[in-house]
Amino acid sequence: MRIFQFILASGLGFGVANGTTIAPEVLAVSQGEPVADTQGLQSWLASFRVRAAKAGISDAVMDAALTGLEYDADVIRRDRNQAEFTKTIWDYLDTATSDLRVQNGREALEKHAAVLDRIEARYGVEKEVVAAIWGLESAYGTYRGTSSTLQSLATLAYDGRRAAFFESELLAALEILQAGDTSPAQMQGSWAGAMGHTQFMPTSFLSYAVDFDGDGQRDIWGDDPTDAVASAAAYLAGYGWTKDAPWGVEIALPQGFDYDQTSERVKKPVAEWQELGVRLVNGGDLPDHGAASVLLPGGARGAAFLIFSNFGVIERYNTADAYVIAVGHLADLLRGGARIQADWPRDLRALTLDERLLLQKQLTLAGFDTLGVDGKIGPNTIAAIKAFQKSEGIVPDGYPSLDLMQKLQ
Ligand code: CA
Repeated sequence: MRIFQFILASGLGFGVANGTTIAPEVLAVSQGEPVADTQGLQSWLASFRVRAAKAGISDAVMDAALTGLEYDADVIRRDRNQAEFTKTIWDYLDTATSDLRVQNGREALEKHAAVLDRIEARYGVEKEVVAAIWGLESAYGTYRGTSSTLQSLATLAYDGRRAAFFESELLAALEILQAGDTSPAQMQGSWAGAMGHTQFMPTSFLSYAVDFDGDGQRDIWGDDPTDAVASAAAYLAGYGWTKDAPWGVEIALPQGFDYDQTSERVKKPVAEWQELGVRLVNGGDLPDHGAASVLLPGGARGAAFLIFSNFGVIERYNTADAYVIAVGHLADLLRGGARIQADWPRDLRALTLDERLLLQKQLTLAGFDTLGVDGKIGPNTIAAIKAFQKSEGIVPDGYPSLDLMQKLQ
């Protein structure tokens, strides 16, 4: 399961261990207001109960969890609107790695030093990395969300836009309740089913949540962050985190660098990048942590990074480049590292959903197939942009902009 696009959330639910897109906390009114449909939800729940029973969920657990759930029109409105809201990476990083978030992170590291040290020793994930995820997902536990996870998931599963995905999450939520980790009332989170300090979806909880404090329950919802933070470490460890290796480093590209080489799809040994003239942003030699890619998340006029395998591990939490960079950079800052040095092209703005759809249509019509028109700037669209840029003799950095759209007209 992957996150399909990068959406900004302010406050909570920046990422979500896998699966759902992210909650924008500030929303405009949607064009199609959902109709409250609690009766339809009740019929759907009756059929869901049959399937849940077959999966081994007891009547008692279902009675406690599903009785009284209502269709949540607000959840559907948010689901319909989320694709509209995007931010540029620099606007996102300004918030995600603000001085305040760094300061709060240092305080959290100090306050929970003993347990974070034990978690680091146990899972082999640096405490600053775990703290950075915690900081982005819930502002270090400050914004864990107060939506009923069961009501959100039932509404989304009944709604049908991604029915199978949300039904499996609802079933996983019932399994968590049946295991006795929490109660229906305490099972809270953001509107799309991500729960607790580290915003785990229920299926991720089943795979990775741990009872680190040993009280018999895996509690990611309560005030004590121990289990949640350990669970995030277990999650990263499970996806192959390499201790003492960076997520990435900021680099400077040499004059005449071939921008066609900038893509997560292009991996080379560090020695080859070094040979091509790539250096650390301060001019130093590149550290060798295995095969690496060059990433330009803000295009040729923004910062450049050499990214390593740990980048792909953070990506399992949320695939948005901006999220991964924010986690990695926040962790670096918590360790006392330097801020990103290069400027960003702050005169550019993020494209709206309509503009992204139009861009994909324009590219495809011009012979640069984006392999679909979905408004998501993924690898296929970036490849199409690069091919178009090369045909026009412009730097092929793959960055979507209004200038680019004007050239396509
Ligand atoms: Ca526990």
